[in-house]
Amino acid sequence: MTSPASWRRDTILVAAGRPPHEPGAPVNHGIGMSTTFVLGGERGYLREGSTGTGALEAALGALDGGEAIAFASGMAATAAVLDGLPVGSIVVAPTSMYWGSVDLLRVAQQLGRLIVRSVDITDTAAVEAAAAGAALVWIETATNPLLTVADVPTICAAAHAAGALTCVDATFATPLRQRPIEQGADIVMHSATKFISGHSDLLLGMLITADPTRAEALREQRHRTGATPGALETYLALRGLRTLDVRLDRQEANAVTLAQRLSEHPAVQRVRYPGLHGDPGFSLAAELMDGPGSVMAFDLADADAADAVCAGVTLITHATSLGGVESLIERRAAYPGERSIGTPDGLVRLSVGIENVEDLWADIKEALDGIGRRTGAR
Ligand code: PLP
Repeated sequence: MTSPASWRRDTILVAAGRPPHEPGAPVNHGIGMSTTFVLGGERGYLREGSTGTGALEAALGALDGGEAIAFASGMAATAAVLDGLPVGSIVVAPTSMYWGSVDLLRVAQQLGRLIVRSVDITDTAAVEAAAAGAALVWIETATNPLLTVADVPTICAAAHAAGALTCVDATFATPLRQRPIEQGADIVMHSATKFISGHSDLLLGMLITADPTRAEALREQRHRTGATPGALETYLALRGLRTLDVRLDRQEANAVTLAQRLSEHPAVQRVRYPGLHGDPGFSLAAELMDGPGSVMAFDLADADAADAVCAGVTLITHATSLGGVESLIERRAAYPGERSIGTPDGLVRLSVGIENVEDLWADIKEALDGIGRRTGAR
């Protein structure tokens, strides 16, 4: 007889967080639209989370190897980690990572709450040196939007030796491609808005930790600040999670093909994708990850060329975000904040979906050929 403890990850995705197999029981937890509950039971108020929250947390906890706490967004989850640090704490963080996280740290520093030490997360020796005296080392891998890969086990070991906590934003990897807790991290963060829910229709964040005391502190922090996700979002996220394995396999296979073809197109100066031989993150990704995921970036000559490609695609949507079943494209440096952290003007981020890869390639190729004709380059 199989037991949840022996399930593989693709089974956990489907089977965890379901009501017990009892005659007449529903297969899915419902969408519990009530903020308050008759007193004397397990929960009294929705800010503590609903039945659906517990189901989603059971699944993510089993996948990442710890206790999971769901938040109203990835940023709410990140904020909960930072809020737990004493005023004046030093936080080591990548110079280039998701702009929202950079901005959150920037404002915390401006307000005098935290001191931020920005590092190149691929320069492991520099990160190790910066960890001295720090309270937290924040890692993002692969990074958004440069797709750089961090040496999670080495950084976590060095951070712990220096007495610092570690948190890994593994949004791009998902629990199916990397499990930072097994590699030494104290906390994993996912923007479940992206791959975990997978359909670009909700905001949700997850924190997972193997330390029950830390999990309880984060749960209390969520309750205190009201950063609990809504019942509909939680329901949809769990529904999306059921198909993560098949979505990601298809997205990744598409991404590998597109990255290869993009790297051969004359208008493309560079493809940033750890699944590509020759990418600076290739070896580390092969060592630490079970696959390179399906987000990539490619560099064109300048902002005009990148804007033209984003405007030129017709199947792929010109929109922010990533991880959904539909392919999305955008020029990240169009946001002033991104330029301040060194994102190249001509960099295009591409989140590859589950469409037919030949249709995706035809769409990108036509847009790329268009800029070649415009500039007379081809
Ligand atoms: N971390 C990464 C790597 C992201 O890409 C994002 C959003 O794009 C976030 C965190 C923030 O997540 P959310 O939009 O769910 O607040």
